[in-house]
Amino acid sequence: MIERLGPVVSARDAVARGERTAEAVTRDALAAIARHEPVLNAYTAVGAEAALAQAAAIDRARAAGESLGPLAGVPIAVKDNICTRGLPTTAASKVLRGFVPPYDATVVEKLTAAGAVVIGKTNCDEFAMGSSTENSSYGPSANPWDPTRTPGGSSGGSAVAVASRTVPASLGSDTGGSIRQPASFCGIVGLKPTYGRVSRYGLLAFASSLDQIGPFTITADDAAAVLAVIAGADTHDATSAQVPAPAASAASRDVRGLRIGVPRAFITGVDAAVARAFDDALAAWRDLGATIVDVDLPHSSLAIPVYYLIATAEASSNLARYDGVRYGARTALAPTDSLRTMYERTRDEGFGAEVKRRIMLGTYVLSAGYYDAYYLKAQQVRAKLRDAYAGVLADVDVIATPTAPTAAFPLGEKVADPLQMYLADIFTVSANLVGVPAISLPCGFSPEGLPIGCQLTGRMWAEDTLVRAGAALQSTTDWHLQAPRLS
Ligand code: GLN
Repeated sequence: MIERLGPVVSARDAVARGERTAEAVTRDALAAIARHEPVLNAYTAVGAEAALAQAAAIDRARAAGESLGPLAGVPIAVKDNICTRGLPTTAASKVLRGFVPPYDATVVEKLTAAGAVVIGKTNCDEFAMGSSTENSSYGPSANPWDPTRTPGGSSGGSAVAVASRTVPASLGSDTGGSIRQPASFCGIVGLKPTYGRVSRYGLLAFASSLDQIGPFTITADDAAAVLAVIAGADTHDATSAQVPAPAASAASRDVRGLRIGVPRAFITGVDAAVARAFDDALAAWRDLGATIVDVDLPHSSLAIPVYYLIATAEASSNLARYDGVRYGARTALAPTDSLRTMYERTRDEGFGAEVKRRIMLGTYVLSAGYYDAYYLKAQQVRAKLRDAYAGVLADVDVIATPTAPTAAFPLGEKVADPLQMYLADIFTVSANLVGVPAISLPCGFSPEGLPIGCQLTGRMWAEDTLVRAGAALQSTTDWHLQAPRLS
């Protein structure tokens, strides 16, 4: 067995057994953040004082013999588009500079109730729109394996925070791959739960029918430990579902008889190193007794256009609320300027280029003359894609693909070409369109030493299957135990 306990479970157990204080664990995390931030730029805010106070409260509770929560003393970083009371929450946008939410998102409330120490906010593409964190108003995060490369996006900062070992786990949001693709680029585990598994209350909405919050961790078991805490129905989110919570760890590592479907025709055009690493992961599962079968995934080539029609349509509507009145920044005006001028200047100065592009695209596809041709058509294809996945997942337990067609690309490489950037999501957007859960697992390295990820997509509510397959892979491979060498 290669597997070692993940940092989430280790930190929790050490605190519970009294081997370490929550305060010492938190101080270490704060020191690591301070050490790496100048190069990595993973955090947009760090709440050192509040985190230390939270940790001290855990230590007092333990000393008093009180029972501790399932994540007691574990420092966790949270993507900057998830509301945290008292800690700035800006979705890395200038339009929200200075916004400090008066409430916690449900996931943050649940983390805190479980004893986790919310240590800071992580960098991301503005309003989670992007695949590289280069659309952040705070500047890009750097990949810890090679700081001249992107960590992926949009939840790049959350992936960097875990990959650089500043925190055992973090939360990201995934609308079209924003947890899985950065997990792949940074060599860690990223899990997008089933749509409705986790409350979106307090998540700054990008595309409401696709958005889902999920964990970044080093091991599959750690992902299960975090998911078990943040999952569950919530009266504040009508789309959160009343389903039994998933287990906090893999029930077994037994994948004998597990049917893994591989849509070969869809996996063309990936880098040679990615293809090799992907095949290595399949071979590892086969050796463990899983059955690898070829499957056909109709309509998957349409997933990118469908995603960019639906996501932009929903974004244009969701982002209408940022008008300089209710939240964040407002552009200063002369007393003679009209209200309309105030809206226009605030939005012009507050939003970056990619967000504006999407608001315009989304407004266009929803406009009276084009609604049927674009938005409605996209919804129809989305329904077909959902049927195709249901059909394939009736035959196999999971679908395997690479997470992304390449390893991390150099910062700056795709900034001028948004269409190229959109193609980075080719393997990830379908799970969001369909609603099914998907996980990215480390499965090898490129010749340049960059991590590569493998994606498993499962049936609705079957996160436990993804965790079991992930834990099985991590019991015979050590890709997840490699850490970047940081100076
Ligand atoms: N990269 C995709 C996009 O730009 C996905 C983003 C996400 O999942 N938030 O829309």
